[in-house]
Amino acid sequence: MDFPDTLIPARDAIREGRISSRQLTRHVLDRIESLNGRLNAFNSVWADRAMQVAAQVDEGRIGGPLAGVPIAIKDNLCTAFGTTTCSSKMLRQFRSPYDATVVRKLESAGAVIVGKTNLDEFAMGSSTENSAFGPTLNPWDPARVPGGSSGGSAAALAAGMCCGAVGSDTGGSIRQPAALCGVVGLKPTYGRVSRYGLVAYASSLDQIGPFGWTVADAALLLGVMAGHDPKDSTSVSEPVPDYVADLDRPVEGLRIGLPREYQLAGGIDARVKSAVDAAVGRYQQLGAEVVEVSLPHTEYGIAAYYVIAPCEASSNLARYDGVHFGHRTSERVRDIIELFSRSRAEGFGAEVQRRIMIGTYALSSGYYDAYYLRALKVRALIRRDFDEAFKRCDVILCPTSPTPAFRVGEKTGDPLQMYLVDVFTVTCNIAALPGISIPCGFTDDPRPLPIGLQLIGPTFSEQKLLRIARMYEAATDWHCRRPAEPVGA
Ligand code: GLN
Repeated sequence: MDFPDTLIPARDAIREGRISSRQLTRHVLDRIESLNGRLNAFNSVWADRAMQVAAQVDEGRIGGPLAGVPIAIKDNLCTAFGTTTCSSKMLRQFRSPYDATVVRKLESAGAVIVGKTNLDEFAMGSSTENSAFGPTLNPWDPARVPGGSSGGSAAALAAGMCCGAVGSDTGGSIRQPAALCGVVGLKPTYGRVSRYGLVAYASSLDQIGPFGWTVADAALLLGVMAGHDPKDSTSVSEPVPDYVADLDRPVEGLRIGLPREYQLAGGIDARVKSAVDAAVGRYQQLGAEVVEVSLPHTEYGIAAYYVIAPCEASSNLARYDGVHFGHRTSERVRDIIELFSRSRAEGFGAEVQRRIMIGTYALSSGYYDAYYLRALKVRALIRRDFDEAFKRCDVILCPTSPTPAFRVGEKTGDPLQMYLVDVFTVTCNIAALPGISIPCGFTDDPRPLPIGLQLIGPTFSEQKLLRIARMYEAATDWHCRRPAEPVGA
């Protein structure tokens, strides 16, 4: 039997009775069973529970826009079922007393959650190598990383271990793994999706968003997850449009902004550059006008992000002290201070400790003005750059990642090299804007590696952003490619 691996076709096949949710869920669980030992995309698999939910869908007891479709969620989303580990030793056995709002919404829409995916510890990283449970490998080439921090979600989708997935994006963690795994990934406008039940990394930047094989799949998932939530005061009451309805209607008079600074930026892989240039050409053929825009403060994006994010992280992660939350040392300790410090030293991995130290330092008296306050000023300037640019264009186009998937271990010894991977993605979070990554080509390696294109729009422009992404997708077939079978071999 041939099973659809994309969300909407799978949903429709179930609706029309061509397959049952149980058949599809069984198929996906079998793939997880055979592939996850190698790819390590899942931290936990909800096999029995998934089959129970699938049965309820088949019996007509659960309906909705995602009824019966297997979905994977990142393991930093709280679920009352199973564990929520954030891929950290600190939370290895943590059981949340409640479901994140997005989890509740996905399940109310009929989604079958098949498991929780691996990530860089507490979402800090760009390769999923910072996981306490070992790295996730890229299904297109298992010698390479899937990107991060939502690498488990992107790899699970690319390997056919789910039909759609959910991640979180603080500085690129949905878009960059989407690019490196050849799927669509969308970071919504800050406030579009409730963060209630998302384990906080950097609260002024974090957003939850979808992964799909197609723009339509991402649009459907976004529509299910979006909306105001009284439990997250940063979520907005802006109405949620039907993101799928108008998707195939091209945007008339489309103006695409190319940031001058990105043209000059060194360090872009030549294959990425030519794929992105070709995509610009394709948009022109489709009638788009290309305008040059300037984002002069982009060059300070990484510096500002790697102050703001660690500052917020150092504060958010203070709760893991071995008393209120998290791993507690079993060593004999003299006093409470030693209990805290030993528990934290044992529970947190090296990158998380580095960020806590950087953040604590940058927030300490005497340095606050020089680092944190200055980073916030840069944030305001970056936001203003985008406001200016969007007076001249509908959307900004650039690569998602400066390179295709890099080798496992290639950047682990050099944090700065790892941080620079985020050069095209962090400004979007800094300015609270929505951004989408879509496949736009492949390298010509024996194992071809996907290349991703990023489109960034003004706040709450998701509907238009998705239509613009769909215009390109409809004119290309990159989204139809799949990793060679057997995946991961
Ligand atoms: N790579 C960035 C970081 O390490 C972004 C991670 C994310 O978006 N969660 O912080």
